[in-house]
Amino acid sequence: MDSVKNIPLSWAYDWLQQPKRQYIDGQWVDGTGQDKWVVTNPANREALCEFVMADAEQVEYAAQIANQRHESGVWSKVSRTQRADMLRQIARLIREHTEQLAVLESLPNGKLFTESMADDIPTCADIFEYYAGWTDKFYGETSPVEDGFLNYTVKEPIGVCALIAPWNFPLYQTSLKMAAALAMGNTVIVKPSEYTPLTTIYLMELIDSELEFPKGVINMLLTDGAMANQLTLSHNVHKVSFTGSTGVGRKIVQNSGLSNLKAATLELGGKSPCIFFEDTPNLDGAIDRAFTVMFSHKGEKCSEPTRFLIHDSIYDQVLEKLIAKANAVKCGNPFDENVDQGPQCNEAQFNKILEYIEIGKGEAKLVAGGYADTEGDNANGYFIRPTIFSEVDQKARIAQEEIFGPVLCCTRFHTTEEAVQMANATAYGLAAGLYTGDVSRAHRVAEQIDAGMLFINRYGCYGLAAPFGGFRQSGWGKEMAIHSLSSYTKTKGVWVYYGDA
Ligand code: NAD
Repeated sequence: MDSVKNIPLSWAYDWLQQPKRQYIDGQWVDGTGQDKWVVTNPANREALCEFVMADAEQVEYAAQIANQRHESGVWSKVSRTQRADMLRQIARLIREHTEQLAVLESLPNGKLFTESMADDIPTCADIFEYYAGWTDKFYGETSPVEDGFLNYTVKEPIGVCALIAPWNFPLYQTSLKMAAALAMGNTVIVKPSEYTPLTTIYLMELIDSELEFPKGVINMLLTDGAMANQLTLSHNVHKVSFTGSTGVGRKIVQNSGLSNLKAATLELGGKSPCIFFEDTPNLDGAIDRAFTVMFSHKGEKCSEPTRFLIHDSIYDQVLEKLIAKANAVKCGNPFDENVDQGPQCNEAQFNKILEYIEIGKGEAKLVAGGYADTEGDNANGYFIRPTIFSEVDQKARIAQEEIFGPVLCCTRFHTTEEAVQMANATAYGLAAGLYTGDVSRAHRVAEQIDAGMLFINRYGCYGLAAPFGGFRQSGWGKEMAIHSLSSYTKTKGVWVYYGDA
């Protein structure tokens, strides 16, 4: 892989040789657990690095320290201007090290280096800059109470925030949580996915060596789900911001009830529909866009449109184009600029997707892909061809359950009512898209679809000023924009009596 030009791969392999440790209270410390975790490269299964995981005692120690630092006010009492400045400095560090971070993002995840370089890493810098601007703009109100009384509200930091991230957008997810939590004056414990911790570790190293954050404001635990579970049970943690699977989301809610009723924001799974009505404007452009959103990042995206609902009159035409596009995709080394799709992130995910493909073969008509790509250099990697099933019944498991890979289900419909009914026919409600030239129908259908984000005539629009998050079993609460700030604060109401008696 070192032959790939203009990418700091040699630098990355040198960096991988250095020990990977926990970051607690401004110190780098060895993990105290019994077990080691090996981070692997999904393109060829090579071991990239390893770390000793934190155990329950170390997890609780980090939570206690973060709480002590919170209570001492080392961060919450820092002036808002200074807080903003520190966040801007994190953004600067990310911008200055974009190439290094992009390599460390793509290596263990398998996403294209160009995706990391052009989108994922620069957006992390944008996020810190965006939330730097909010430190002095999110404030309370005076309430319209009776004469002689004043009631005002104050937004206070919530305390220690455990920020638990998945492996699909590692640094992006961590940044989204960290920037908002720090902007509101909280202390944080960052827990990256054990599969993809490299960019978070490197960012912590940059922060530690180049910035003057008070000790214990930013902490990082390298460990697995079992120990992250302990973190969500800690009485020293006041808020969990979690992005990951719906099953773990349920566990976090249970753990909140079993411990201190900590707050939780949950960004969970999805099975999002995209409806193509017969009057889809610029049909070719619509297919291109929806296909790209579905299959980019190897289909490991929570809000991707995994169910295409296509009007009967254009079904065959759309399907033919989709099949041609899927068959043209080149799978391979994510650092090769001629490659369209890298490997799935890890073995468990690879096996899970292949199992769903086998299930799908018994439920619907396989029209593209449907197998692991083991051509040439791909033989040792977790590559799966873009896969399309046609004539999928909405009751089928492949239409109901989140696969989280390059597997698309296509279904034909005849009426608008039928399309809406199909769109709402799963337990999820993360996102939905619809394409139509009829503006009234667009709004009517958007109103009827029970999803947290609706995309009309362009699937997959995102912006930091727009809320992100789902309904039903896709989660609770919103990230991005002003919406995430209320979840990192608590609102205190203060009464003042200034009457005569
Ligand atoms: P996951 O739920 O297995 O793991 C996510 C994180 O939680 C990891 O850091 C893991 O170590 C930790 N974890 C595991 N068990 C835990 C427990 N019992 N308590 C606390 N933490 C625990 O998810 P994943 O496989 O890393 O990511 C894929 C999932 O994430 C998919 O379901 C996808 O839809 C979802 N996702 C959702 C969004 C969104 O914004 N809605 C975005 C990205 C990914």
